[in-house]
Amino acid sequence: MLMEFNVKVLNQKYCVALDDKDELQHLKGEFVLPNSIVYLGGNALGARPKSSNALTQQFIAHEWDEKLTHHLNTDDHHTELPRDLGNKIAQLIGAENDEVMVADSTALNLFKTLTAALKIQTKEHPEANVIIAERDALPTDIHIIQSFIEFHQQLYTLEFIEDEYDLEQHLATGKVAVVILSQVHHCTGRLKEISTINELIHQHSALVIWDLCQSVGIYPIQLNQSQADFAIGCTYKYLNGGPGAPAFLWVNAKYLKTFWDPLNAWNNHKNPLDLLDFYEPFTGQKRYMSAHQPIISMRLIECGLNIFAKTNLESIRHKSLQLTDLFIELMEQECGDFDFELITPREHQVRGGHLSYNHPFAYEICQALSVRGVIADYRETDIIRFAFSPLYIRFIDVWNTVQQIKSVMQNVEWQIKPYHVAHTVQY
Ligand SMILES: *Cc1c(COP(=O)(O)O)cnc(C)c1O
Repeated sequence: MLMEFNVKVLNQKYCVALDDKDELQHLKGEFVLPNSIVYLGGNALGARPKSSNALTQQFIAHEWDEKLTHHLNTDDHHTELPRDLGNKIAQLIGAENDEVMVADSTALNLFKTLTAALKIQTKEHPEANVIIAERDALPTDIHIIQSFIEFHQQLYTLEFIEDEYDLEQHLATGKVAVVILSQVHHCTGRLKEISTINELIHQHSALVIWDLCQSVGIYPIQLNQSQADFAIGCTYKYLNGGPGAPAFLWVNAKYLKTFWDPLNAWNNHKNPLDLLDFYEPFTGQKRYMSAHQPIISMRLIECGLNIFAKTNLESIRHKSLQLTDLFIELMEQECGDFDFELITPREHQVRGGHLSYNHPFAYEICQALSVRGVIADYRETDIIRFAFSPLYIRFIDVWNTVQQIKSVMQNVEWQIKPYHVAHTVQY
C-alpha cells in the first residue's frame, strides 16, 4: 500500500483520506457501535444492526398475535423463513435459490451433512471409511466428528491433516470418504482455494464439507462453480445475525434426493401431519431440517442480510484487504520493536478477513487493550486475533488500534497485575 500510493510514512491523515474515499463508509451508520470502542471481534460476534430493535418490537407486537388469530390453519409464512433467508445467503456463497436452508447450529449442521455424505458414500464407495479433518480445526468440529463416529460404533476412523498439502497422501489410500475443511482458518486467518481442493478430493471419490464460518460475508465464495458437495456456516459472525442466531447449510443440488437428516421428525417429513408409522423424507430442501426454528432470532438475521444487499462482496473483499494491508504495515512501522509475529499469510490469495499475531504476552495485551477500548480476541496459545469487518471498521480505527497497541507496549501496561488472571476464552 505504501508503494502504491507513494507515501513514505503512514500517518493519521493518510488513514482519514482512505476513509473519505471508502465506498462502504456509509454502512457503519447501519450498526449500533459505541464511539468509545473499536470493535475487532466481528468474526466471533458481529455488531448489532440498528434495524433489529424495531423489527423485534414489530414481531412481538404484531406477528405473534397475528399468527394466533389468522395463521394457525392457513399457510404459515414463518415456516418459509429458513428457505427465504437461505436464498439471501445463497447470493453470498455462489449458490442458487432453494439450495440453502437457515436452521439449527453450525455444529448440528456438520453432523447432518456428515450423515448425508456418509450415507451417499456407503452406497457408492462402501470401502471408504476414513473421515479427514484439520488437526487444528476449531475443536467443536472435531468433537462433532468424534461423536458421529461414536454414534456409528466406530465404523469410521478420523484422520488428521496438518494442512491441505497433506490431503493427497491420505486420499491416495482410496479409503477416504469425507473431508471437512474450513475455508478460512479460525486462528491463522489462512484462506484456502476451494476449487482445486474440491477437484483433488473428487479425483479420489471422496466428498467435501466446507466450514464457511470464518469466510461467509467477508469473501466472495463460489460453491457451485467450485463443485463443492456440502457447506455449513454461522450467521452471527460477519453476517451480524445476533448472538446464537441459527446457522445455514448448503447442499449441492445433485444430492437433494439423497440427503438424509439423522433426526427424522415432522418438518423434514413428506407429509408432516400424516399419522404414518414409517418415515418418508420431504421432497424439497425442507428435508435439511427436522423441527421448527427460533423465529425471532431468524428474523434478526434478516437485518444483517439487508445491509449486505446494499453492497457486494467484491467491494467488501477489496476493503477487507485494504484494511488488513494497512494494519500489517502500521504494525511494522509503529510496533516493529515489540515482538509481534504475524501468523496470517501476507499474500492476498491466501489471506482471509482477520489477522493473527503471536506474542508471548498475547493474553495480557488483549486485556490491556480492552481497557483502552480496543476489543480484540485472544486465542490459545499466545495469539491475538483482530477481525476487520469492512461494513463497520474504518481506516482510522486501524490507525487508532495500532496507536493503542503501541501505548500498551511502551508503557508496559500488559504487566499490570489484574491482566494475569486465569484465561477465559470466548469463541
Ligand atoms: C464459530 C465457528 C463455529 C461455531 O459453531 P456453533 O455451532 O455456532 O457453535 C464452527 N466452526 C468454525 C470454524 C467457527 O469459526
